[in-house]
Amino acid sequence: MIKTDFLVIGSGIAGLSFAVKAAREFPDRQVTVITKSEMVESNTRYAQGGIAVVTDFLNDNFDKHKADTEMAGDGLCNSEIVDMVVREGPARLEEIVKMGTDFDRTPEGGYHLGLEGAHSARRILHHKDTTGFNIQNSLMKEAGSLPNIEILEYHFAIDIISQHHMGEKVTRKRDDICCYGAYVMDLNSGSIKTFLSKVTILASGGVGQVYKLTTNPVVATGDGIAMAGRAKAAIEHMQFVQFHPTALYGDEEEQAFLISEAVRGFGAVLKTREGELFMEKYDERGSLASRDIVARAIDTEMKARGDEYVHLDCTHLDQQEFSKRFPNIYKKCLSLGIDLSVDRIPVAPAAHYLCGGVKTDANGRSSILNLYCCGEIACTGLHGANRLASNSLLEALVFAHRCFVDLKNNIDQISHQKDVPEWESAGTTEPDEWILIKHNRVELKNIMHNYVSIVRSDERLQRSLNRLEILYRETEKLYKRTTLSPQLCELRNMIYVAYLIVKQSMGQNENRGTFFNVDRVGQQGHGSLEGTDP
Ligand SMILES: Cc1cc2nc3c(=O)[nH]c(=O)nc-3n(C[C@H](O)[C@H](O)[C@H](O)COP(=O)(O)OP(=O)(O)OC[C@H]3O[C@@H](n4cnc5c(N)ncnc54)[C@H](O)[C@@H]3O)c2cc1C
Repeated sequence: MIKTDFLVIGSGIAGLSFAVKAAREFPDRQVTVITKSEMVESNTRYAQGGIAVVTDFLNDNFDKHKADTEMAGDGLCNSEIVDMVVREGPARLEEIVKMGTDFDRTPEGGYHLGLEGAHSARRILHHKDTTGFNIQNSLMKEAGSLPNIEILEYHFAIDIISQHHMGEKVTRKRDDICCYGAYVMDLNSGSIKTFLSKVTILASGGVGQVYKLTTNPVVATGDGIAMAGRAKAAIEHMQFVQFHPTALYGDEEEQAFLISEAVRGFGAVLKTREGELFMEKYDERGSLASRDIVARAIDTEMKARGDEYVHLDCTHLDQQEFSKRFPNIYKKCLSLGIDLSVDRIPVAPAAHYLCGGVKTDANGRSSILNLYCCGEIACTGLHGANRLASNSLLEALVFAHRCFVDLKNNIDQISHQKDVPEWESAGTTEPDEWILIKHNRVELKNIMHNYVSIVRSDERLQRSLNRLEILYRETEKLYKRTTLSPQLCELRNMIYVAYLIVKQSMGQNENRGTFFNVDRVGQQGHGSLEGTDP
């Protein structure tokens, strides 16, 4: 049993920026960060486009950023949260700059600001096309320099601990459910450790891996959402999965390489495989319309033509400037034999970002006591039905800070729970079970790809639910008789998350933002999401 003051689950921008703040403020307290892979592996490290913050007050202002966020969110953003996030942006930005994050500058010394879809002003700070990697590295360096932060790589959180593990049956949401820490598998030894914490910060990121095509790395299996859900936390807006319109087609199996929206901001345009422009048919902003519109337009064109991808045309752009601004994308394309001066890039939409997640208040508190959430796992009210590009790194920084400030004032009142039992392991691993786990994972990803993707229908949702129920039953059987493995835990979590996406999609009675159901066409309006949380 390991005791710590702050248990942070996840080592992306949200987890590490919280950990750094807590460790600096409380040098005598212990901050433990656990992460299931290498510390660097996260959605954060792959962020390309940048972070949206108002810094050019001559051409931009908070009201514009707020209006753009709310326009993308399609009527479901929480206006107070949006206002708070955009206004706190500059202060949070300066903190990571002080930590060593390096944003591109103009020759005059100001920030070089990129433009992305649905932004009415240039406000995207970036480090070439590897912004996330730069942020991740500066946070890892800072966290590594603080003696009271312990970072445990290859530690997989299985479940958060609550009354449920103390012999009390918690079968529904209640106001008094409390988190006491987490059960964590040490992947080096295979042992399951009990971490007792005063507070637990879930910063375990997104869910992209539940889909066959995704820009997210293999760690993005929605573990935190499933853990919080099993503990009966409120979870919302799972039906709003954002598909990035332009993932490189036909490259990697597990994680599709992203062609950032900033490339369209730089002047690239979408065309059919025959070379026709098509975006203007769907939106007057053309290739720079918001992501949901672009992704749906591409999906429609692909289906109409029986194509598996469309093209992104960069041939008319200044190639030297392009390679300077997007060295990573340029290199990647070249490595696949795509010469951007003559060849167009094959692209298709891929699952990219979860707008919903564990419901939090303005301070990152979940509905479970002493359980905070920040980053992509959280549903804070910022994104509504669709996230504005580059708002997620911003949200993660702002909410990690809000969690920290809230805890700064009340950590002294929280003590460790007594008499928490150790995890009970049982079961045997039979070699043929690994292949069953793998098959079920592939099947799950196909179900979500085929039936719960950009365009949904009542029939497809019902089909997906029927199939998920079979996968659920099979996997629970395996779970009962098999020694715990991260593969099995991930599969269980992915099924749970997929179930939430399907059930909350079924409860969504109108098309909004990223959500589109052909059987809801014509049912626009501000809908209620009540009753959709299974
Ligand atoms: C290709 C790509 C490009 C993007 N570009 C941008 C962009 O330009 N601008 C922008 O604002 N956003 C962008 N995003 C989104 C943004 O990167 C993410 O939303 C954000 O980085 C999420 O940060 P996070 O800290 O919440 O989660 P992550 O960075 O994903 O970190 C989650 C962490 O939790 C760990 N973890 C997960 N499960 C467990 C478990 N069971 N036990 C222990 N540890 C666990 C993971 O290993 C990881 O360390 C992009 C995303 C992708 C995939």
